[in-house]
Amino acid sequence: MEFDDRIVVVTGGAQGIGRSISEAFVRGGASVVVADISLDAARETAAELEIFGRTRAVQMDVSQSGSVVEAFKRIKTECGGVDILVNNAGITRDGLILRMNEEDWDAVLDINLKGVFLCTKEAVKIMVKQRRGKIINIASVVAFMGNPGQANYGASKAGIIGFTKTIAREYASRGITVNSVAPGFIQTAMTDALDEQVKQEMLKSIPAGTFGSVDDVAQAVVFLASAGSNYITGQVIHVNGGMYM
Ligand code: NAP
Repeated sequence: MEFDDRIVVVTGGAQGIGRSISEAFVRGGASVVVADISLDAARETAAELEIFGRTRAVQMDVSQSGSVVEAFKRIKTECGGVDILVNNAGITRDGLILRMNEEDWDAVLDINLKGVFLCTKEAVKIMVKQRRGKIINIASVVAFMGNPGQANYGASKAGIIGFTKTIAREYASRGITVNSVAPGFIQTAMTDALDEQVKQEMLKSIPAGTFGSVDDVAQAVVFLASAGSNYITGQVIHVNGGMYM
């Protein structure tokens, strides 16, 4: 299978988009490390996906350097390396700027952007020695369009785009590609929490006329991790039904 012998780490892999990405890689033959802030949730997902292949659950808070370093050390020792890293963990703490407090700003930037930095750094250390690697960062349409009430989220996701391009340039000669996937409105727990009226307004702005599925995002990630994308780096794939083009 396409990802036989490949070791994949998916942050925030226990649910939503991350779970779907984890499943797609397990089905593709990879050994998948479901890394999540909740070890119980990671274990549950890893156990459910085991029917398709090899999985492992790891506790990792992407915003804490100690937790990230420890988790990657364990992954390297127990799995032997990291071939594909999917920086998927992300949160929202919405509010208009005048009501957004520093705590909400920091929480979103720490998990969504600093988390990508910390995990990428640990993965690159391993990938450089392997002279190959694929890093896929989950951004958002909000990085490109903005969205009222999401200054922290939009800034974190726009930061991911600049980060992706920079690391792509730093490591292209070492056989490591770095790309982003920018989902539009995807049906998950994160978006289920939104007000029904907001959802209906969003729907009007999507030419495809429907929200995306977690599988739509997973398939773009799988492509960027496949050999078919070896000459693609520093790019963004938009998965949004035409919401932004
Ligand atoms: P989700 O359902 O909330 O899943 C996110 C996962 O990340 C959860 O398992 C969560 O655990 C975990 N997590 C949270 N903080 C973490 C941390 N510090 N360290 C490690 N794991 C952590 O979200 P989703 O909708 O699947 O979103 C996944 C990614 O896609 C995010 O980066 C999001 O910004 C992006 N995205 C989503 C949409 C959308 O429409 N859903 C659109 C564009 C982009 P807990 O549940 O225990 O907190």
